[in-house]
Amino acid sequence: MSLSLILSNARLANASDASATVDIAIADGRITAIEPRISGGGTRVDAGGRFVSSGLVESHFHLDKSRILDRVAPLEDRRVTDYMKRTSAVKDTFTVEDVYARARDTLEQCLLNGVMHMRTHIEVDAPIGLRGYEAIERLAKDYAWGMDLQLCVFLQEGWTNVPGAESTVVQALKRGATVVGGAPRYDADGAAQIRRIFALAKDFNVDVDIHGDGGYTTDDMMVWQICDLTDRMGWGGRVAIGHGNKYSCLTDSQVAALGKRLADSGVAVSVLPATDIFTSGRHMEHSVMRGLADANALVAQGANCSIATNNVLNPFTPYGDCSLVRIANMYANVVQRGTEKDLSECFAMVTDRPARILRKDDYGIAVGNPADLVVWNAKTPAEVIATVAQPVMGFKRGRRVFTREMPTLHRP
Ligand SMILES: [Zn+2]
Repeated sequence: MSLSLILSNARLANASDASATVDIAIADGRITAIEPRISGGGTRVDAGGRFVSSGLVESHFHLDKSRILDRVAPLEDRRVTDYMKRTSAVKDTFTVEDVYARARDTLEQCLLNGVMHMRTHIEVDAPIGLRGYEAIERLAKDYAWGMDLQLCVFLQEGWTNVPGAESTVVQALKRGATVVGGAPRYDADGAAQIRRIFALAKDFNVDVDIHGDGGYTTDDMMVWQICDLTDRMGWGGRVAIGHGNKYSCLTDSQVAALGKRLADSGVAVSVLPATDIFTSGRHMEHSVMRGLADANALVAQGANCSIATNNVLNPFTPYGDCSLVRIANMYANVVQRGTEKDLSECFAMVTDRPARILRKDDYGIAVGNPADLVVWNAKTPAEVIATVAQPVMGFKRGRRVFTREMPTLHRP
């Protein structure tokens, strides 16, 4: 086997000696050796002693409704919470070509920010049908060279109360969607929607990822039903909840109990800082609640959690540079996590932990794994989060997929 690439002088997260660097040899898209010094043929790329990680993992994203701010009615009043209404109003403009073009622009920005794996939720409600699904399915094929896309199909605007709505979910699952999602909050009977999601997961042998426990009280938390169903079906490790704003309203001991329950059932939580913070506490005039769950506290109890971007430039989140590291930094800042250990955990929540949610068995820098690598302008994972470090270059299955020049200061 001939070496195609050696990424030299790379600093790994688990290096025993902080100053130690390694060379990473890559052939046929996979890591073939990790040694202090590797000589031999092939192209050499110098990582310059910088920290090298696996590609980032977005466990919760909506490519299909990204970049629509320019066509929705503006949010005039801070108290108004009509994100859904303003989004719904423009869904008739979602053609296959339109969804593809917006999703492509977003995906490319994510890739330039070091993301190489993504689970994207796709709406198949009546106004859109399978058009969004078709666009993202095509995008996944076209961009397989840079991004592994996992397709999660769901109904955003009601399920059990919308006659016939489920048929498009079933069609998408038959076409190959590997995850079934949901938005029980927007169903006349949320508990019934959750039961349907699990029933479909069993029928099609797919994973579950439900938007849940948004809101600003601890009333009616869905997590207990989701854990019960996961236990009963033996689906541990295959279920995730997105948001969990309500968990920010729990006391420390309640958070600990929740973390243990999530760990026991194998249900993961993806916190979505940009959306969670933007939509929380809109009823409050002052001392506005942040509404973002402390995922580190859940992780401390053995639960699996991730930090994800969710929305980009739409009514739910009118921001977005597609930098998952920026989102993780915002998360750490808001939940007041700042130690080396906590920030390292935040980095794990955009890499190893979401990789487990996506059930990527061959994720990570190890011999035999795909060579999905990002070189950061930092020395450690914690420093990446603390400084919102820039990714300098990235390799997907051993092929260079992006390069970013560092800024230059022109002194007098
Ligand atoms: Zn979402």
